Amino acid sequence: MCGTDAPDAAGPVSNGSHASKANTASSPYQNVNDFISNVARFKIIESTLREGEQFANAFFDTETKIKIAKALPVSSPQSYEDCKTICGLGLKAKILTHVRCNMEDAKKAVECGVDGVDLVIGTSSFLQKYSHGKTIAIIKETALEVIQYVKSQGVEVRFSSEDSFRSDLVDLLSLYKAVDQAGVNRVGVADTVGGATPRMVYDLIRTLRGVVSCDIETHFHDDTGCAVANAHSALEAGATHIDTSVLGIGERNGITPLGALMARMVVTAPDYVINKYNLKALKDLEELVASSVQINIPFNNPITGFCAFTHKAGIHAKAILANPSTYEIIDPAIFGLTRYISINSRITGWNAIRARCEQLGLKMTDDEVKEVTAKIKKMADIRPLAIDDTDSILHSYHIELQKKQAQQV
Ligand SMILES: [Zn+2]
Repeated sequence: MCGTDAPDAAGPVSNGSHASKANTASSPYQNVNDFISNVARFKIIESTLREGEQFANAFFDTETKIKIAKALPVSSPQSYEDCKTICGLGLKAKILTHVRCNMEDAKKAVECGVDGVDLVIGTSSFLQKYSHGKTIAIIKETALEVIQYVKSQGVEVRFSSEDSFRSDLVDLLSLYKAVDQAGVNRVGVADTVGGATPRMVYDLIRTLRGVVSCDIETHFHDDTGCAVANAHSALEAGATHIDTSVLGIGERNGITPLGALMARMVVTAPDYVINKYNLKALKDLEELVASSVQINIPFNNPITGFCAFTHKAGIHAKAILANPSTYEIIDPAIFGLTRYISINSRITGWNAIRARCEQLGLKMTDDEVKEVTAKIKKMADIRPLAIDDTDSILHSYHIELQKKQAQQV
């Protein structure tokens, strides 16, 4: 048994809290202080309803979209009617829609009543050659025309390149400079194929930061497992916005997951994240999306993975019971969760067993706890134990003790 959620019948052993509440508000790591970093003032572009719909299992009907949109901080649905409906919900979020960079798409988007339009076009030589066949000069000309139209309608506009990291740097920077001068609210950089590293991200965003004055949005695919690290790097280099989706769902294996990014950022910038986001809603939100697309929450998911706050080794359990900060970088209570100390294994220790005895109301001396711990370890060597097995060893040992005491009296 191994749980991070509400206590079940057996009940997780959960003692103490992080040394002091104040500790949760300042990162225990050395801060990297530099004027350009946005790690403590970033914004999230939630694209579960946009990127997420590109996930293999996703089919969001209107009802599901509304349910998710209501649970989300922000959403960017693509379909026209759903978009209109969601815009009509009056949510506390800006509604953006994501369209190709051409006049026809831009007009449809504006008709939906959205707050902002995201224009996107591929700029890598691969996409220029094999996708839309347009040269950079034509891309620039079209972009400026469309941007002018969207702005004339009083709607926010973002311009994003696709496959930015495999685009020619000079082309890319001149395009961004032109759209920035045309007055876009934001430019977007996308690692569409998920091959960028944190170092590449830092270099590109840092350079772009020197070229445009508008906000910089970033979009990272997770094909090589760098999506969260790349997002963090982008913020350090001066990006202002990160695209996420719940559980990272999206094209192929998806993008930066909202929950994992929250885990990363709550350690980097605790004050900002705890005050800005309703972190306790994360688990329900992930469960809602997981069931909508018929997947399980991965076992190793930060925060909500089934053993994200489970401690097993005796030596860890002892320290955790004394002060959870020893082996926990995040206090589960911030996310409305509890830690669990696994006691059903041969690597358990007597401190963890003592805590379990206290929870069960079984009074024993330290020597007795050590003796029964030895019994549990011996049994766990023979076969896997469930919490019920361990509890019944503790109960029967306790009954034996009481019998012995009665005989002595
Ligand atoms: Zn994408």
